[in-house]
Amino acid sequence: YEADKVPERILFYQSSMLNLRTKRVELENDLYKALENDELFLQYQPQLDLQTGEIKSMEALVRWNHPTKGWISPMDFIPIAEESGLIIPFGRWVLETACRQTMELQKVLNKPFKVSVNLSVGQLFQDNFVDIIKEVIKDTNISPQSLELEITESMTMNTNYITPILKDLKEIGLTIAIDDFGTGYSSLSYLKDLPIDCLKIDRSFVQKVTNIEDREPLVDMIISMAQHLKLSVVAEGIETIEQLQYLQRKNCDFIQGYLISKPINYEELVEKYEEIQQEAKEKVYQLNMI
Ligand code: C2E
Ligand code: MG
Ligand code: MG
Ligand code: MG
Repeated sequence: YEADKVPERILFYQSSMLNLRTKRVELENDLYKALENDELFLQYQPQLDLQTGEIKSMEALVRWNHPTKGWISPMDFIPIAEESGLIIPFGRWVLETACRQTMELQKVLNKPFKVSVNLSVGQLFQDNFVDIIKEVIKDTNISPQSLELEITESMTMNTNYITPILKDLKEIGLTIAIDDFGTGYSSLSYLKDLPIDCLKIDRSFVQKVTNIEDREPLVDMIISMAQHLKLSVVAEGIETIEQLQYLQRKNCDFIQGYLISKPINYEELVEKYEEIQQEAKEKVYQLNMI
């Protein structure tokens, strides 16, 4: 009786594994075609300077509009791109598109916009990455000061390997941010010596704030650490005016989140920029009026 059950379980296990594998291979093939078929595009999320109330920077976020499955999250397809090696052509497309559209935006709105682009492990660790960045800058004519690269804490773990790469990148004139800061395991001692410019506080910490009088020790600590290390600090995932005001009081430099704007298409950003900017400025000055 017992023996009967075993094969059944194994069979079930095997078939569900196979299913998962097939789905993955399928998605990988689709992703390969996505680049050729123009199914990928970028959205941009404005970043608000809490000192001035100005919006002069934004994060580029990749989107995939699958022909039959519809919208697929980058959280689901970036790992597949990583494992299949597609991340190389794919990452380059993201960089080029972000730089090109930012140049266009600078012209259309007549402002020196800066764009922040997410990097993945395989991309940063390809051996000619610095050359690729130089090429993209040359091809798109973007000023290096208008480009920021976002890496994660885990990519900085091997400090001996990553430090010279980051130094070379910074020498070009661009800036480096650490994304989702606080969720990894960076040790304070090596953070001090990393050639970086900015910490982005993960939204899981910020979203705990419900009231301006709250105390969110991790948020406070990251901001004060950034200040001591002379790094700028961006808080991600701001959804409420209370969160904005809390961060304003703590002298956080920039915020990003649905309260200011969701990530939007390039065309929409051009169209709605003035409106988004105006509304954001009013929110920044609210605290001063109380
Ligand atoms: P991330 O870089 O930390 O990006 C922030 C994510 O938070 C984005 O999700 C954004 O849409 C979302 N977000 C922004 N404001 C709010 C808010 O107020 N509330 C909430 N609940 N969410 C907010 P998205 O676009 O789904 O991207 C997820 C992750 O995928 C990104 O996290 C990034 O790690 C990765 N990713 C996106 N684009 C690229 C890319 O071009 N290259 C690479 N390598 N990774 C990318
Ligand atoms: Mg990011
Ligand atoms: Mg993040
Ligand atoms: Mg992330």
